[in-house]
Amino acid sequence: MLTTHPIAQFRRNPNFYLLYDGFWFVACAVAMLTFWRTGFTSLIAGPSWWFLPAFPVLLFAFIWAHLIIHNCTHGSLPKAINRTLGEVLGLIVIVRFASWDVVHMRHHKYSDDRVKDPHPNYPSFWTTVFKTIVSVEQQLFQQYYDVWGDTPENHARESRRAKMSYGTNLVLLATWAWVLGPAFFLMVFVPCNLLAGLFVIHFNWSTHNGEAAKSIEDMRPVNLTGWRYQLGNKLFAGIYAHALHHDRPAIFNPARALAVEQATANAQQQTA
Ligand SMILES: [Zn+2]
Ligand SMILES: [Zn+2]
Repeated sequence: MLTTHPIAQFRRNPNFYLLYDGFWFVACAVAMLTFWRTGFTSLIAGPSWWFLPAFPVLLFAFIWAHLIIHNCTHGSLPKAINRTLGEVLGLIVIVRFASWDVVHMRHHKYSDDRVKDPHPNYPSFWTTVFKTIVSVEQQLFQQYYDVWGDTPENHARESRRAKMSYGTNLVLLATWAWVLGPAFFLMVFVPCNLLAGLFVIHFNWSTHNGEAAKSIEDMRPVNLTGWRYQLGNKLFAGIYAHALHHDRPAIFNPARALAVEQATANAQQQTA
């Protein structure tokens, strides 16, 4: 169970996602009840000058959390820690591991399909942001109907599941607010999480050719070059070599793999 891929459980059990979010709902509720009973006070008191330097550090950490979750969805980390690490980081970035996994596997299967890609890209970045926010939840529903059938009962089931997921978001956020204290939660934790989410959307848009694309027909995975993306590759484990990632998703640092490939091709050319 602790080493299983969430999407495999999703395909085996029609109630998987309801039970999964239900589990985290109860876990957060129990944590808050324990805080209340034990008189636990938040770790961080009122606003402080050090929130300012903490902001970029936490933002960087949250982007890395998404990056590692992404690798966990592809099983790129050792099997013993893959799922556990994905779950812990999924709670920190709020969205939770199973939804990252289900949505991302769908993205690889249907990338740039206008209807089925859970976050299809558009030449305009802000259109992509808006459509991504609307489409991801719809695609979670659609993924369920694709596996379990598009029936009225399943629509009712998914509507119950969505309510559970929203409820889980709320108790999870409330737990973080209690642990961190309202000032740090509102001034650092929430904005850093929103910006890290925006970074992920920008990453998805740019690596599906967002900057060069003139129309939606031009959207496809690309290996980005140029100094900004080279710097991005250094900071974020080669994520901008995204065409190579779509070819071989299990590689942890696709930019490094691409460089090795290009060096080998150059050497072969010279000997030919
Ligand atoms: Zn992609
Ligand atoms: Zn991927």
